[in-house]
Amino acid sequence: MNSGRREKDLISVVVPCFNEEESLPLFYEAVSQVADAMDHVDFEFVFVDDGSRDATLKVLRGLSERDSRCRFASFSRNFGKEAAMYAGLSEAEGDYCVLMDADLQHPPALLPQMYRVVSGEGYDCCGGLRVGREGDGRVRSLLSRGFYKISQRLTRLDMTDGHGDFRMMSRPVVEAILDMKEYNRYMKGLFSFVGFSTKWIPYENVERVCGKTKWNFKSLFTYAFEGILAFSTAPLKLAGGAGILLMAAGILFLLVSLIGCAAAGGTLTAMDLVVTLILILSGLQMLFLYIIGAYLSKDYLENKKRPLYIVRERSCSKFNL
Ligand code: UDP
Ligand code: MG
Repeated sequence: MNSGRREKDLISVVVPCFNEEESLPLFYEAVSQVADAMDHVDFEFVFVDDGSRDATLKVLRGLSERDSRCRFASFSRNFGKEAAMYAGLSEAEGDYCVLMDADLQHPPALLPQMYRVVSGEGYDCCGGLRVGREGDGRVRSLLSRGFYKISQRLTRLDMTDGHGDFRMMSRPVVEAILDMKEYNRYMKGLFSFVGFSTKWIPYENVERVCGKTKWNFKSLFTYAFEGILAFSTAPLKLAGGAGILLMAAGILFLLVSLIGCAAAGGTLTAMDLVVTLILILSGLQMLFLYIIGAYLSKDYLENKKRPLYIVRERSCSKFNL
């Protein structure tokens, strides 16, 4: 779906890079080969140097001097992959944008098929579905699967293990993602939030071509937690369940004590009353915490200023009337 100004469609390859001096030349060669074979489309490379401390910037300068299809933006420090992807998509001018990691874990060989899907099969987006996790450690794979199960329950968004950032999007999808201006960005959630039709193409996971992953358990855990917080207010409301349980326990304790006293012909002890009071008052406190959490969650979502709806198609564009 060409914008009309160009003869051919333009595909923007958006690449977040953090300390990728070794991978970048290999990445560029591999994607260029595929791009050259797809002579019915134009390509541009939009690299974002996310505050690398190695020679990534030097490599990017070299690439942009050598090949006019290559552009880059270099951050003043490491802002994280989410920020780098946002910057890359903002800079990209393509009719279609594809997000790719620099380490060749996202196979360039899928690009022709992805383009066919988004340009000719009526889909807005085509994602790579990673099958297997050979490149990742066992514990990491296990934790990732667990995280996706929990987050799917809490957020009710379609986030599956294997759905990564590797996807080719049409311009309207890119604009919808860019319209989400929230600061705490969690791309997998945003993709799911904006909707649009997506086709998934499976690919085998491979180890990164060289260099090391930028993630460790601490950063992965923080990322996972941020993801849940960005799309679910359920944790804020946990106090509600705890409050009801504590109050129910208090009432139950009082009833059991009363029945015990009636059977033995005695009266309630001070201890019985104290335990009952502690349980009921703690429960009440928890319930009030829940109410505060409920208000806070409304405010939290308001602050994100997410669009109320996203239009996929109109009978006529108001700009072309
Ligand atoms: N990356 C980035 N900023 C960061 C961390 C990573 O731009 O703070 C880039 C990195 O250079 C690579 C992609 O994000 O192109 C994926 O990173 P990595 O391969 O380390 O993650 P993994 O594949 O292990 O999930
Ligand atoms: Mg990787």
